[in-house]
Amino acid sequence: MIARLHDPNYNRWACQIKRAGGCRQPIHLRGKVEHYDQATGQLLHRYSTIREPDGILRVPCKTRRATRCPACAEVYRADTYQLVRAGLVGGKGVPETVSSHPCLFVTLTAPSFGAVHVRREKNGKVLPCHARRDATTCPHGQVMSCTDRHSVDDPRLGEPLCPDCYDYEGSVLFNAISPELWRRFTEALRRRFAKLSGLTLKALREQATISFAKVAEYQRRGVVHFHAVIRLDGPDGPTSPPPSWATADALGQAVHHAAAVVTAEVKPLSRTFRWGTQLDVRRITMDGELTEQAVAAYIAKYATKAAECVGTLDRRIQPLDDLAALPIREHARRLIAECMRLGALDALTDLRLIQWAHMLGFRGHFSTKSRRYSTTLGALRAAREEHMRAEEITTGRLPLFDEDTVLVIAHWQYAGQGLSIGEQVLAAALTGTRLAGVDGDHR
Ligand SMILES: [Zn+2]
Ligand SMILES: [Zn+2]
Ligand SMILES: [Zn+2]
Repeated sequence: MIARLHDPNYNRWACQIKRAGGCRQPIHLRGKVEHYDQATGQLLHRYSTIREPDGILRVPCKTRRATRCPACAEVYRADTYQLVRAGLVGGKGVPETVSSHPCLFVTLTAPSFGAVHVRREKNGKVLPCHARRDATTCPHGQVMSCTDRHSVDDPRLGEPLCPDCYDYEGSVLFNAISPELWRRFTEALRRRFAKLSGLTLKALREQATISFAKVAEYQRRGVVHFHAVIRLDGPDGPTSPPPSWATADALGQAVHHAAAVVTAEVKPLSRTFRWGTQLDVRRITMDGELTEQAVAAYIAKYATKAAECVGTLDRRIQPLDDLAALPIREHARRLIAECMRLGALDALTDLRLIQWAHMLGFRGHFSTKSRRYSTTLGALRAAREEHMRAEEITTGRLPLFDEDTVLVIAHWQYAGQGLSIGEQVLAAALTGTRLAGVDGDHR
C-alpha cells in the first residue's frame, strides 16, 4: 500500500481504479491502440499502456456474480433491470406502446425430490415445518416429521428431513435437463396458443409473436426454478400491436397447459422430468398489484446470484479438491458428490456434470431472452462504452475522429488479474466500495 502511494504514477493508477468502477478483481491488459487515417495511412493517434502504472491498463472484470465482484455484478444487475424494463414499458429502442401488450409473470418450479425443511407462513404466522400426526419412520430410522417453526435464517431450511432418502440423483439431473425442459415449454406454449386461437403455427407467426425474458433462481434445496416475463406482440415483435383476439387470458391458459404436459428425459437412466405442480401465473399491469417495476427489479436481483446461496462454492470443483474438506454444507456436498458420480458415467458425458458440479448440475444461462423481447445486454454495454469514449475525448485522451475515415488497430495482451491486499484497501477507499474479505478472492 505504501509502495503504491509513493509511486510517482499514483494519480494515474487511482484514475484507472476509479474508472474500473470499484472492480474487485480488474483484468490487467498490456498493449496499444493506433488510429490511422484510411485515406493517407497517416498515424493520427497512438495509445500505449507503456506509460500506464506498471505498464498495464486495469479494466473491470464484468462478472455477473456478486460474490466475486460486487461492483461489476451491480453493473450487470442494472443492465438486466433496464433490459427487462424496456420489454415491459419501452425505452432503449423499444416503443412505449409495448406496455399495452398482454404480459404475464410466470414462475415454473422443480418437482419434489424428498421432504425438506421449509418455512411456511399463513396470515403472518409461521407454521410448523412438516407436522404429521401419522408420521412414518423411514428405513434409516428418521421420523418424517418436523414441528419446528423455522426462522428465516435457519441453516436447516432446504435440507432434507432424511438425506439418505433424498433423491440426489433426481435433483442434479433436473438441474442439468432444465434448459431443455424450458425450451420444450416455449415450443409447447406456442403450439397450444395457436391451437386455442384456431390457427396453425405458421399462421400464428404471421399474426402474433410470443416473447420471453427469464432468469434462473436456486431454491434453498439446490434446484433451479425459472421466473419469466412472457409477452404477446404483433408479427413484428414489440413494435407491432398484437391482434385483438390475442388476450392475456388465452396466453395464461396456454401457459398452464404447456407447463403441465412437457417432459424431458435422461434416457440412459430412464428418468423423465417435468415441472413441479407449483405454477404461478400473474398478469403484469402498469397499475395493478404486480407492476412492471417490481418484475424488472425481481428478475434483475436473481441475475447476479448463483448456486452459492445454497451454500456451495462459487468456483469450479478441481480434480484434486478433497470434497470432504471443502467448507460447504453437507447437503451441498452431497449434491456436488452426486454430480461427480453421475458425471463419471460414459452415457451422461453430454450433461458435463463434473464441470458444472459447483452449480449443482445446472449449466444453462442465468438470464436469457428471446430475440424480440427488447434490447440486448451487448447494446447497453456498447452505449456505455460510447459514453466513456465521449468522456475520454473531452478529457483529451482520445482525439475526436469520424468513425468512417479512421482505421483502428488494437493489440491487447492479458497480463494478469486482481489487486494486492494493500491495493484493495486503497481501491475501496477511492471508490467507496466494501473491502473484500481477505480470503484469496483475487486468485
Ligand atoms: Zn469486477
Ligand atoms: Zn423442519
Ligand atoms: Zn431415510
